[in-house]
Amino acid sequence: MNQQARRNPLKDQAGGLKQVKNLLAVSSCKGGVGKSTVAVNLACSLAKRGLKVGIFDADVYGPSLPTVVRPASTDLFSRNDLILPLEYEGMKLMSFGYVPTGAGGSGAAIMRGPMVTQIINQLLTGTEWGALDYLVIDMPPGTGDVQLTLTQLIPLTAAVIVTTPQELSFVDVVKGIQMFQKLKVPTVSVVENMAYFKCDECSSKKYLFGPGVKQRLVDQFGIKNAFELPLQQELSRLSDAGRPYVLEHDDAIAQTFQQLAEATVAEIDRLREESAGMPSTRFVIGRGVVITWPDGSEQDIDAATMRRACRCAHCIEETTGKQLLDPASVSEDIYPNEIQPMGNYAVSVQWSDGHTTSIYPYDLLADLAQS
Ligand code: ADP
Repeated sequence: MNQQARRNPLKDQAGGLKQVKNLLAVSSCKGGVGKSTVAVNLACSLAKRGLKVGIFDADVYGPSLPTVVRPASTDLFSRNDLILPLEYEGMKLMSFGYVPTGAGGSGAAIMRGPMVTQIINQLLTGTEWGALDYLVIDMPPGTGDVQLTLTQLIPLTAAVIVTTPQELSFVDVVKGIQMFQKLKVPTVSVVENMAYFKCDECSSKKYLFGPGVKQRLVDQFGIKNAFELPLQQELSRLSDAGRPYVLEHDDAIAQTFQQLAEATVAEIDRLREESAGMPSTRFVIGRGVVITWPDGSEQDIDAATMRRACRCAHCIEETTGKQLLDPASVSEDIYPNEIQPMGNYAVSVQWSDGHTTSIYPYDLLADLAQS
């Protein structure tokens, strides 16, 4: 069950976060993929929708918020022991880059993981965010200890993962999804940045690295919100000039950011509603895996059929989607030793044959129950 989405954020957040309804992480497995560009344009698109929005730049080593937006003043003031955030186009901002003797300077390089996460948390909770619908958190790049600890410390509502479509990008996305999954934070959208470029002569889309990860995200993780952004000089020019693209243009790229914002909000709302009434699963001898849907109806799935439908990296080749598991190798007597909810969209199963990495989105269980 998704504890993050169920929690009432108004009640249990610390310090300056008390009136923040949703904390949305924007994350990437490595630097330079456009995470900050996506974070700021997503934040502006949420604000365009009439929502109250803040941006927290959690990258202590390389803060980029001071580059991608230029507020009129970057002087910081405090009130009642909390730092007042800067303001830009109606949004609230905070970054280590704004803290004068801040950790964004050379001191950051010598800090160890636990110090870094404590400092990030202090600045986050020590900022007087006021009433916000969404606080977009530009996470430090990577999926290591710092990111994991941060995900533990910050009561994240959901995550958006940004990637570029190189050969190993799906593996990167999976690493990100799994890091958030460990702490029951659902990944609601994935953005493939610099996925293609538009040819000036024929205006067709050129995919430099072949097809993206869309279908596999749906199949393996039940993530339906995957968006592609082109490699575009204007995006980079405006980023470097400190002006978010969506505030200057109303073209296909701006619309993609708007769709990302809409889809992300809709998915978070849906998860919050759904987590109030999740399906439950159990094993019953003679029936197999029995799913009880929120409306009370039940469906049975043959356990061997379910085991054969496993889509983990041992059973399916990650890059091609080819089945590696020999269906004949699965005994008809197989049964689950344990079934655990994962986030609010899937269950993970430990099978009696020793297989421990099976994840079944509820959509897949519904399909298997029909077949
Ligand atoms: P990250 O936060 O992942 O390190 P940034 O958002 O800082 O990445 O982007 C890295 C660089 O790439 C910046 O100079 C940015 O302007 C540029 N950039 C980001 N997205 C695009 C894009 N779709 N097309 C062209 N340049 C981009």
